[in-house]
Amino acid sequence: MPTTSDFQRMLREAALRVTRPRVAVLSAVHAHPHADTDSIIGVVRADLGEVSHQAVYDVLRALTAAGLLRRIEPPGSVARYEARVGDNHHHVVCRSCGVIADVDCAVGTAPCLTASDDHGFAIDEAEVIYWGLCPGCSTALSS
Ligand SMILES: [Zn+2]
Ligand SMILES: [Zn+2]
Repeated sequence: MPTTSDFQRMLREAALRVTRPRVAVLSAVHAHPHADTDSIIGVVRADLGEVSHQAVYDVLRALTAAGLLRRIEPPGSVARYEARVGDNHHHVVCRSCGVIADVDCAVGTAPCLTASDDHGFAIDEAEVIYWGLCPGCSTALSS
């Protein structure tokens, strides 16, 4: 788990000013991968005290634009954020409870899937969502 000084360094390396809300949001997303905005606000408030929704939204947007966070939004789900960026990993989503887990690239380098027709595009990423039932939900169904 990175420390506060690691988060400050990440912000500086992304040419972002170091602020307490930015450090708190980075830290919250590192500690809670695939958290939605409301959960992140809860964690940040536990850390910093009163912080407005808008402030957290703004920080999430800035950190995502700077490439420090990745925003994913599976169909039927609210936006979720994670700090694991740049590796073109995929996600498996439970159809029943919505829990999300990381799945490494099928081959290792992006894009890990070759399109059957690239339409002339220089494709550099493949984003895959695997759908199914998580172990908890499939146990609950069969019992
Ligand atoms: Zn489930
Ligand atoms: Zn992920």
